[in-house]
Amino acid sequence: MASSPDVIVIGAGVLGLCTAAELGARGHAVTVIDPGGPNASSAAAGMIAPALECLSDDSTPERAALLKRARDRWPAFAEAFGLALTRDGVDWLGPDIPAAIARLSAMGFSASRTPAGLTSPDDWRVDVGGALKALARAPGVTVIRSAVARLSEDARRWRVEAEDGRTWFASTIVLATGVAAPLPGLPPAAAAAVASVEPFRGQLTPVSVPPPPRTLRTPGLYIVPAGSGVVIGATMERGRRDIEPDLEEAARRATAGLALLGAEGEAGPPRVGIRGASPDGLPLAGFAGEAGLHLALAPFRNGWLLGPLVAEVVADGIEGRAPVPDAAALDPLRFA
Ligand SMILES: Cc1cc2nc3c(=O)[nH]c(=O)nc-3n(C[C@H](O)[C@H](O)[C@H](O)COP(=O)(O)OP(=O)(O)OC[C@H]3O[C@@H](n4cnc5c(N)ncnc54)[C@H](O)[C@@H]3O)c2cc1C
Repeated sequence: MASSPDVIVIGAGVLGLCTAAELGARGHAVTVIDPGGPNASSAAAGMIAPALECLSDDSTPERAALLKRARDRWPAFAEAFGLALTRDGVDWLGPDIPAAIARLSAMGFSASRTPAGLTSPDDWRVDVGGALKALARAPGVTVIRSAVARLSEDARRWRVEAEDGRTWFASTIVLATGVAAPLPGLPPAAAAAVASVEPFRGQLTPVSVPPPPRTLRTPGLYIVPAGSGVVIGATMERGRRDIEPDLEEAARRATAGLALLGAEGEAGPPRVGIRGASPDGLPLAGFAGEAGLHLALAPFRNGWLLGPLVAEVVADGIEGRAPVPDAAALDPLRFA
């Protein structure tokens, strides 16, 4: 079977689907190809968390400003595609609260003291399952369940061949394949960029317990309201790609989270995902040096936070528009 969308996006995680929805909204016919099943995006907690991510990483003011600008794209993006964005802030319990408030303030975030820690209005959250479904239904977007096996260039178009033998053609493709190995047929520079993405396994545990009023974070743990319960996370295991749940770790984390909440609850099956990271922890997003080839990869711990920014950068590159200032920091060939 053959069809001719304007753009083929390979990978239906948050980066692939945000990019597809953005392109669809700009009038392109977009086909997204993905075999389906869980991925990093469906495992995630859905925090849109520039403030606490920067506090945990002791980030620079420049990195904090970029993450904040990425967050600020969320209200319009969520409204455009009908995603549930909750702007209820975050509570933090940790050592030396005055120093933490001073660091947040130096990075441009608001924070104030609470009896036990600090609270900031700057971190938000999104329901990841609902958001992935809504993005897959965005106008102009068609999702096909299939795994791409190889790429080739054919008369100035990309030929995209699936493992099941189906083939599609498009002048433009976006590679949003998470931590997957480079696809056969990728030009060397793009293949090197894809191969540089490092896996970081993460696991979080859903627990049925009355949720706290907003996300609660400590140095080793976070608890995020999710439906009528919470998700408690998350591990960070560099170099691991296996997705077998670690039940002992899940039980330990659930116990620690419930102790923090002072409540009893029941843990559900853990969710495991593999985050992809570039050497500087920012995505590889934009034009990949070969006509019609664009990347949307490696958002590390902040794929949800960065989804709308990556989508805008990639869509602008496809349309040949002037790049937004943050596009340079995401240049997919910056380590080449
Ligand atoms: C436990 C955990 C908690 C997290 N919490 C948060 C959070 O609160 N906030 C936040 O911002 N981020 C969070 N993250 C990080 C975030 O989830 C990731 O950065 C993001 O999901 C990565 O998205 P992606 O689109 O790059 O990759 P993925 O979601 O992995 O999607 C890649 C897709 O590509 C597809 N694919 C691969 N190869 C092929 C092929 N050959 N053909 C077709 N399709 C292919 C896969 O099937 C997959 O669906 C968390 C991650 C984990 C693991």
